[in-house]
Amino acid sequence: MNNKVVWITGASSGIGEALALELARRGARLVLSARREDELRRVANATNLPPTHVLVLPLDMTDLSGMAGHVQTVLDHFGQIDYVFQNAGITQRGSVAETQLPVYRQLMELNYFGVVALTQAVLPHMLRRGQGHFVVTSSVAGKIGTKQRSGYCASKHALHGFFDALRAEIAEAGLRVTTICPGYIRTPISLHALDAQGQKHARMDANQDKGMDPAECARQICQAVARGRDEVYVGGIETLGIYL
Ligand code: NDP
Repeated sequence: MNNKVVWITGASSGIGEALALELARRGARLVLSARREDELRRVANATNLPPTHVLVLPLDMTDLSGMAGHVQTVLDHFGQIDYVFQNAGITQRGSVAETQLPVYRQLMELNYFGVVALTQAVLPHMLRRGQGHFVVTSSVAGKIGTKQRSGYCASKHALHGFFDALRAEIAEAGLRVTTICPGYIRTPISLHALDAQGQKHARMDANQDKGMDPAECARQICQAVARGRDEVYVGGIETLGIYL
């Protein structure tokens, strides 16, 4: 990762924040994105990187039309993009029977369409250079169905279809994709989850403290990426019990 330019979405909190700290330790130059600029600046300070090596780039991943402009901003600043860690995401708490249809759309807008749009915006640059690596935070919920999270599971399953196809398309051009399937990681994700009516769930899960530490999660993700893995589970099958 030394001197590589790594763009992390969802960098203001949780796994994305931990990735920023881990990647800074590994010598990367960083682009930090999420909606909350104050939190991104806090994370940027915590990396101890010189100001030239970290770009705070606030964005809303559901604003699909803004992606090309954000890519240009990064290229104007660093001249290259080596890795995009597509990590921003939101979850839900609510049964299929109760959940309003617009909630499914909201989950797809961020967890799927935002990710597709950013990928498409960065791809021409990477194809021109003949190098680049997409790292995508899916979930074990992208591989199995878990109660109260049907829309979240669907959005994460969709990511696997998209990125498996992309991996096949870009392999010959020298580009890579790594999909990450975390189990239960100790972050504030449940606070921001959408309930059945699309309101903030605003409660921490009772078993929040049982998940893997985000710093360890970030370390394992970086290790998998460095080894060029296509897909990796992080946070252990043992945390599946918490989901099911
Ligand atoms: P957090 O809630 O801590 O982080 C979510 C991040 O996404 C925040 O930085 C948030 O920043 C950002 N985000 C949310 N909405 C938007 C938006 N519209 N535009 C841009 N950024 C947005 O959760 P985690 O760190 O746990 O989640 C990170 C990823 O890991 C997610 O994709 C999640 O699905 C996945 N994951 C998490 C697991 C867990 O147990 N924690 C398990 C499996 C997967 P801001 O509010 O500032 O925009």
